[in-house]
Amino acid sequence: MLKNLLKITLVLSLCLPNLVLAQTKQKISLLLYNGKVFTADEKFTIVEAVAVDGEKIVAVGTSNELKARYQAAKEIDLQGKLVTPGFNDAHVHFFRGALSLLNVSLFDSKTVEEAKTRVAAKVKETKAGEWIIGRGWDHTRWANKFPTRANLDAVAPNNPVYLVRVDGHVGWANSAALKLAKIDKATKNPEGGEIERDANGEATGILKETAQGLVGGLVPPPTAEQQTKGMELALKMAREYGITSVQDNSGYETTKLYREFLRQNKLTVRVAEWQDFEDSVEKLKQQRTEFAAFKDNPSRLKLTALKGYVDGTLGSKTAAMLAPFSDDAGNSGIPRRSSEELTRMIVERDKEGFQIALHAIGDKANRMALDGFAEARKNRQEGGRNQINPNALRFINTNTDLGLTTYGDNLIRHRIEHAQVVNPADFKRFEELGIIASMQPTHAVSDKRWAESRLGEYRVLGAYAWHLMKSYNVHIPFGTDFPVEAINPYATLYAAVSRQDAEGIPAGGWQPQERLSIEDAIRCHTYESAYAEFAEKEKGEIKIGMFADLIVHSKDLTTIEPREILTTAPVYTIFNGAIIYQRGN
Ligand SMILES: [Zn+2]
Repeated sequence: MLKNLLKITLVLSLCLPNLVLAQTKQKISLLLYNGKVFTADEKFTIVEAVAVDGEKIVAVGTSNELKARYQAAKEIDLQGKLVTPGFNDAHVHFFRGALSLLNVSLFDSKTVEEAKTRVAAKVKETKAGEWIIGRGWDHTRWANKFPTRANLDAVAPNNPVYLVRVDGHVGWANSAALKLAKIDKATKNPEGGEIERDANGEATGILKETAQGLVGGLVPPPTAEQQTKGMELALKMAREYGITSVQDNSGYETTKLYREFLRQNKLTVRVAEWQDFEDSVEKLKQQRTEFAAFKDNPSRLKLTALKGYVDGTLGSKTAAMLAPFSDDAGNSGIPRRSSEELTRMIVERDKEGFQIALHAIGDKANRMALDGFAEARKNRQEGGRNQINPNALRFINTNTDLGLTTYGDNLIRHRIEHAQVVNPADFKRFEELGIIASMQPTHAVSDKRWAESRLGEYRVLGAYAWHLMKSYNVHIPFGTDFPVEAINPYATLYAAVSRQDAEGIPAGGWQPQERLSIEDAIRCHTYESAYAEFAEKEKGEIKIGMFADLIVHSKDLTTIEPREILTTAPVYTIFNGAIIYQRGN
């Protein structure tokens, strides 16, 4: 009897899906099954299948469950492949990077001669008198001294040339460019910058920090056609690397270009654009009002943080340090402004409800930013929550249901960008103040060649210290910092878990105590990045109700040797429920 019953049940269950359930299966747009779906949730849950309808994820579960329940217009048998949420690049200069794709690229140039050859090639296709611009040189990869205008004059006597260092903090100009900028012996250094000079007091062609504006400001802006072309190239790269969200340093004006792409259905990343911390509160608010009037879909294009700079970079020795660089006695870097002025600006903008994202590299710069954020919080607590302008908050959170009370003091989620060298006493302050440490692991492997001699054996322990930061429960979104580094999240993951360069050097990893697990690293590039832009309820995990931004990877990142992460790539990139990239197509 029991046996028969079992038999009947078996027969029924075999037939049912075909005979009965076929009619009742729910129609959806996309089903991925038979895979290893890393949801990137807190427990690193793994499922087999994910169902998508329209823009959103409607179910996760086993392949059998979802195949029984849904009939999808497109089904993909993953054949065991790894799926993760799409990468969210939490710190990128997307537009600048896009334009750099059209100009002279000095990335990976190994000698100043190689750089000259690339400039010379551009001279050939450029009319006399027209500007030649480029980016990406890194003197620490050459003879470790700054190049000069004479190097460029040799290959470009008739064109003004202006080439920005890989970190964006130093410019290299030829004589024609300096002449147009009217820089001579008598020109004073602008505040927060330096015109490097030779023994005779003549400008060498190297312009540091704000001094870059003297020449950079003369470069004619790119034409509309160039802007569109560059943006198309950059978006293509983003699709090929599985990037589905960017938090962008390009500034308010760029939203106009993004909007055009969005209207033409060509914007294949979600954009959280940043405004300029330097602008007056009046101007910032006016931009928010103007932006809101366009009624863009905020999950596709929105304004989030104000981006400001506290100091320069370690590579250029312009990072603001508490004590001089170990390899340059007497030089403690260049803060952009005094602590008092910085704090005043932070407090003023915090009070209006703006999220603030401050570039801070040196331990002094990080402390200055933390001091400012602490003062802002004190101010808010003293004045009560009403001190925050609720209208400003609504601007920030247009796409979420976050209310004033949800996050209390940490509501605004201020960020420190890079948080590169942090004094041991300050790690805990990130946690206490709820400050996000927005980090870019590829910088550590790019800088490791000289970071220790520049910082000394003690300070280097607090440098690029994402594991230590994480041990204080600090939120750590990951970014590429393109075009400072390649727009390649796989390189970020590899750097985060190995602390090695592409050649596997050094064995065991540089400062290996700071390595992360691959699961943590993926979550930093997805969920944590979403958190940093107030969007962790709509993306960053593979979960019902979230946007279907997904990557099917060529290899299982969670099991392969770290070196193999570098040769992993998307097989599919899915954005907003649609396949926007398929390998080989
Ligand atoms: Zn940057």
